[in-house]
Amino acid sequence: MYSLDDTIAAIATSIGQSGIGIIKLSGPEALAIARQIFRPATGNPPFKPYRLHYGHIIDPAAQIIIDEALVVFMPKPHSYTCQDVIEIQAHGGPVSLRRILQLALSLGARLAEAGEMTLRAFLNGRIDLAQAEAVLDVIEAKTEAALRVANEQLGGTLSAQISGVRAALLDTLAFLEASIDFVEDEIPVQDVVGPLEKVMVQLAGLLKSADQGLIYRQGIKAAIVGRPNVGKSSLLNALLRGNRAIVTDIPGTTRDTLEETANVGGIPLVLVDTAGIRTETADEVERIGVERSQAALARADIALMVIDGSQPLESGDWEIARLIGRKPAVLIVNKNDLPSAHQPNGLADFLPGANQVDISALAQRGIDLLEGEIVRLALGGQVTLADTPLVSNPRHKALLQRALEQTQAAIRAQQEGLSPDLVSIDVREAVEALGSITGETVTEDLLNTIFSKFCIGK
Ligand code: GDP
Repeated sequence: MYSLDDTIAAIATSIGQSGIGIIKLSGPEALAIARQIFRPATGNPPFKPYRLHYGHIIDPAAQIIIDEALVVFMPKPHSYTCQDVIEIQAHGGPVSLRRILQLALSLGARLAEAGEMTLRAFLNGRIDLAQAEAVLDVIEAKTEAALRVANEQLGGTLSAQISGVRAALLDTLAFLEASIDFVEDEIPVQDVVGPLEKVMVQLAGLLKSADQGLIYRQGIKAAIVGRPNVGKSSLLNALLRGNRAIVTDIPGTTRDTLEETANVGGIPLVLVDTAGIRTETADEVERIGVERSQAALARADIALMVIDGSQPLESGDWEIARLIGRKPAVLIVNKNDLPSAHQPNGLADFLPGANQVDISALAQRGIDLLEGEIVRLALGGQVTLADTPLVSNPRHKALLQRALEQTQAAIRAQQEGLSPDLVSIDVREAVEALGSITGETVTEDLLNTIFSKFCIGK
């Protein structure tokens, strides 16, 4: 079992030579230990909470100075661990830091296990398990986007969603358990199936986002390119219709390069717009079309190349195709409500490597297929983003999957007319799966597995 009532200590910064290094103590004896090894420069004032105190770390037995330090006392419960915490900011040399740690240990502290500070924060209820895991994600974040995802999780966004779904399941469970006791009162099927189906939808939604990881948070940029009048604006509108993503500020967005974001299968698809060229002479338009395509392509991760399927290919089409080069692309053959000007497979050589999707932007036909193709392209490993996206937590994904399966099983059981106690078994398992994400239901083994991935001192 984990103990919470002893005092743990660790070097919280990485070992090496650096400007400062931090030693952290957490537990009931933290303050007493600090008092013995810290000699404040200004005589001997009591430790004022949340204030930095300047002075020296001394070896109390030998009365020699170990290092110059700043010390802060964070009393319970308003500290990282919800316990009394002392942080000693000393010089970042390994000898000095080890010596100070040794002093703390000799005065009754125990060396902290990996992740034990965060474990205490979890066990004391300051954060839940998903948030504790997010601490690790913050430390390990390799991209700013990864950091954003981690911070959101740390802030409790995922936890709140999970808790909502879990609460709905618990309601159903209570209902089922009540009806076990009153068998003679027949419970209408929809009373259970309805709420469970809602849960199913929510879980499926969560799973989708977990499944696709960071790309869903970060989004990808797509350039809609093509000659004038092939239907780019119409396609843009079709993609935005009803699923405009909510985006506030996109850095670099200015008025004349306004970028709309469509939610395409959950991926924020930032559409770098080349549509809306309406003035100038025909030649002008053609030239501007190519120029804009080039500019848009330079900023995009993928290309959505639109051609007019009712017209033979023109030099402008080929020119834009050439601009796309090796960028991941979809070939969108628009206006398929009109007779086609192409033989089946007639466009095979036009944009090699790109899959072809036939649509009618006007009639809103084939948009689903196109969205599917965009998603496939976005997640198929062909998209090169400036940063490498991190995968979201596979543990959460597996548990969401299990919760979904159990919920589906419960719905089936209910629809087949099985008894409430049998239905409730599935519901309870779904509840437990979700509880394992946030840590309501969790085994010591699991905690060990999770927290052992942390560094010492966190
Ligand atoms: P853009 O210049 O590439 O942005 O093309 P627009 O979206 O403005 O479309 C040019 C013209 O083609 C407009 O008159 C549209 O109504 C028409 N158009 C666009 N998509 C389709 C389609 O799928 N079928 C048909 N028949 N016309 C279309």
